[in-house]
Amino acid sequence: MLTSIVGTNWGDEGKGRMVDLLSKSYDIVVRYQGGNNAGHTVVNEYGKTVLNLLPSGILRPETANVLGPGMVIDLEHLSKETQTLKDRGVEITPEHLVLSSRATICLPYHRLLDVLEEERLGSKKFGSTRRGISPVYADKYMKKTLRLGDLLYPATLREKVEDLVEWKNLTVEKGYGSAPIKADGLMDWLLAYGKPFVPFVRDTSLYLQEAITAGKSIMFEAQLGALRDVDFGIYPYTSASSTLAAYATLGAGIPFAALDQVIGIMKAYSSCVGEGPFTCELFGEEGDKLREAGAEYGAATGRPRRVGGFDVVASRYGTKMQGCTAIALTKLDVLSYMEMIPVCVAYEIRGERCDSFPSGIDDLMVAKPIYEYLPGFHCDISHCRSIEELPREAIDYIRFIESAVDCPIRYLSVGPEREAYIWMP
Ligand code: GDP
Repeated sequence: MLTSIVGTNWGDEGKGRMVDLLSKSYDIVVRYQGGNNAGHTVVNEYGKTVLNLLPSGILRPETANVLGPGMVIDLEHLSKETQTLKDRGVEITPEHLVLSSRATICLPYHRLLDVLEEERLGSKKFGSTRRGISPVYADKYMKKTLRLGDLLYPATLREKVEDLVEWKNLTVEKGYGSAPIKADGLMDWLLAYGKPFVPFVRDTSLYLQEAITAGKSIMFEAQLGALRDVDFGIYPYTSASSTLAAYATLGAGIPFAALDQVIGIMKAYSSCVGEGPFTCELFGEEGDKLREAGAEYGAATGRPRRVGGFDVVASRYGTKMQGCTAIALTKLDVLSYMEMIPVCVAYEIRGERCDSFPSGIDDLMVAKPIYEYLPGFHCDISHCRSIEELPREAIDYIRFIESAVDCPIRYLSVGPEREAYIWMP
């Protein structure tokens, strides 16, 4: 079984929590895109864990975890993230964690460039996480960065680093007027943070190919959501990678494989980190209450998230672009306090009703939400473990979403803990 778990919206839908729950049925969990620019929060027997680079299956000793070729990996961050887990008793071995020799290394100067550019933009900044993700993906497509496999050939590493530094200083030093990058410093960083991971690096295409032949099941874990996809998201307020399920096998290194199912993780309301159009945004007291109820603060950065009601237009589009075969609806319990539940059913663009998600920001910038209110359930549902225990209004809300996005809801999450969910046959 090959399953992709993806976000249908702006990210932070609770993917980490669902992968942690579902990964028990899989032998291998693979991250296939992005870097440490987002956080997945998992609550289980280890307590609360925020994972940035590592697949959520890392907390299950019997599950192998792969960082695929589509990823960009900051080795310093990986070192800290694995150390935090080791300190809590999680075993990190080359059997438990496999790093693709084709994955790109996110270097300290990529982080620096992210900061320099956000500062240059000033009030027009993108709200980047400043973790170097756009600069490193840009360099990947310029064919001017290092891959993890380069660590396996120390004899040629120095020359590669010197060539990169010479080129990069044209931007860092001559362009931004910042202090030049030094090859020595970069070599020290690569040795300090890269060398310990050498035993973990291998050709993950071969590794996963063998696993498929042996009949193993694989879960592909996406970071961020459909609306952050570099091609089909709210460009340029997107991430620099492809967040779609269609990229899962490619970014994992097995483009010849076909997915059996795509589970879209969808939140019962909307949230968004960073700048850019967010049509369904709720402001004032209505927004503040929802943010507090849902504890909507960035897992990677701690930034307060923008919040809104469930967005039918965006969620339907996200579900379609992901090719979802099932939905896991999360955080329904958060809406318990509401008398009436706000739902953005359509957009109004230049005086006209719009039901399809616009392809560019010129329309999105002027789009206004058309809100309707559905009856709230107004009671605590976090203890419910079967659909029969849910109040009528909660079931009606679920059925409304299901029909709005035209995809069956199979899992309903009513709390952050591993077992706080309802299976919906
Ligand atoms: P991810 O990046 O998609 O994994 O999402 P985040 O980890 O950034 O955000 C999801 C947050 O919601 C985390 O703090 C989770 O522990 C929490 N969470 C996930 N599912 C539920 C749920 O059903 N109810 C509640 N109350 N919290 C949840």
